[in-house]
Amino acid sequence: MTSAYGWIDRSLKTIHKAGWHRSEQAIAGLPGPVMQVQGRSLLNFSSNDYLSLAGDERLIQAAVQAVQTYGTGSTGSRLVTGHRDLHDQLEQAIADLKQTEDAIVFSSGYLANLGTIASLVSPRDVIFTDQYNHSSLRSGAKLSGAAIFEYRHCDMVDLQQQLSKMRSQYQRCLILTDTVFSMDGDVAPIAEILALADRYEAMVLVDEAHATGVLGASGAGAVEQAGCTGRPIVQMGTLSKALGSLGGYVAGSRSLVDFLRNRAPSWIYTTGLSPADTAAALAAVKIVRSEPQRREQLWQQVTWLKTQLQTAFPAIAPVKLLPTDSPILCLVMPDVTTALHTSQQLQAAGIFAPAIRPPTVPTSRIRLTLMTTHERSHLQHLVRTLHSLSDRY
Ligand code: PMP
Repeated sequence: MTSAYGWIDRSLKTIHKAGWHRSEQAIAGLPGPVMQVQGRSLLNFSSNDYLSLAGDERLIQAAVQAVQTYGTGSTGSRLVTGHRDLHDQLEQAIADLKQTEDAIVFSSGYLANLGTIASLVSPRDVIFTDQYNHSSLRSGAKLSGAAIFEYRHCDMVDLQQQLSKMRSQYQRCLILTDTVFSMDGDVAPIAEILALADRYEAMVLVDEAHATGVLGASGAGAVEQAGCTGRPIVQMGTLSKALGSLGGYVAGSRSLVDFLRNRAPSWIYTTGLSPADTAAALAAVKIVRSEPQRREQLWQQVTWLKTQLQTAFPAIAPVKLLPTDSPILCLVMPDVTTALHTSQQLQAAGIFAPAIRPPTVPTSRIRLTLMTTHERSHLQHLVRTLHSLSDRY
């Protein structure tokens, strides 16, 4: 008799054969630019902790105090026993940062996207989504049951043509985009998307996961940087990257947030964000506002490394630096084997920068992310190592 589960091993074999197999590695100690992996110190070029807040003493103390005051768990969903005044304070702080009327926090960014998209549109409606959007936006779109049309990455001509052809056949319309694209590092043309949304009566949901705390004069994100603060936008983000905690948020109008509290299943039917995570995120939002120098230092690192990599890998080289406007810098490799080999060689030289491969991205690449607390010597070691490897491509 064949096993009902036999296909799993066959699938795993295929994944191995394609060079797509992945597994996790335990990382010891506090987050920072130097990490401990299997007893070795490695330079960390793969963290989303852009402002180096996940190991910040102020966040740690805020979390410890919250645990001592409220315990470890929220004990229920927000509408039942899971709501604390800390949640109110965090939601107010996020709304202040984003300059929106209100905000709502979810237990993760992924859940924020699932619940929000599924509440805003349904099978009579239509979604237009950038082809490189994050998995959580794609999953939310599927869950909603709306018709889904993908437009070419950041291509406003394609989006306009699709809107012109399809929009009128549906009731509500929602455009979805990452602001900073997580696996490419480039930034969506937010003002142009909003102009098309006005023209075709569409809602816009932007995912500020990698922009919150990093982009914009006050760290509010790419919407602020694009000069679009105050426009009617559904602004989603995470508490888990530059804010050093865990959870997701949606910021927008008072009625949008009130509606989500009553309709978003991934907020209503899940346990409230834990006291520790909530308090840590609240401390982080305060730091984002009061310490712009953290952001300035991060951007200095980005500018320096970008210039070095552009020189090391000119346009004709087999390895290409993708155009980027964020602390995410991607070197596209000729193939998956080279990507894996490069990542292994980097690791041998004391640098942690995993290869990102299909199906996560269309082309294999080394994805480098920068942190405020990287030192110039860290970046120099990375550039020198990449230089020495580049002879072998
Ligand atoms: N959106 C984007 C663009 C992301 O990169 C991520 C996390 N990788 C998420 C959403 C999900 O956020 P979280 O990790 O808080 O679930």
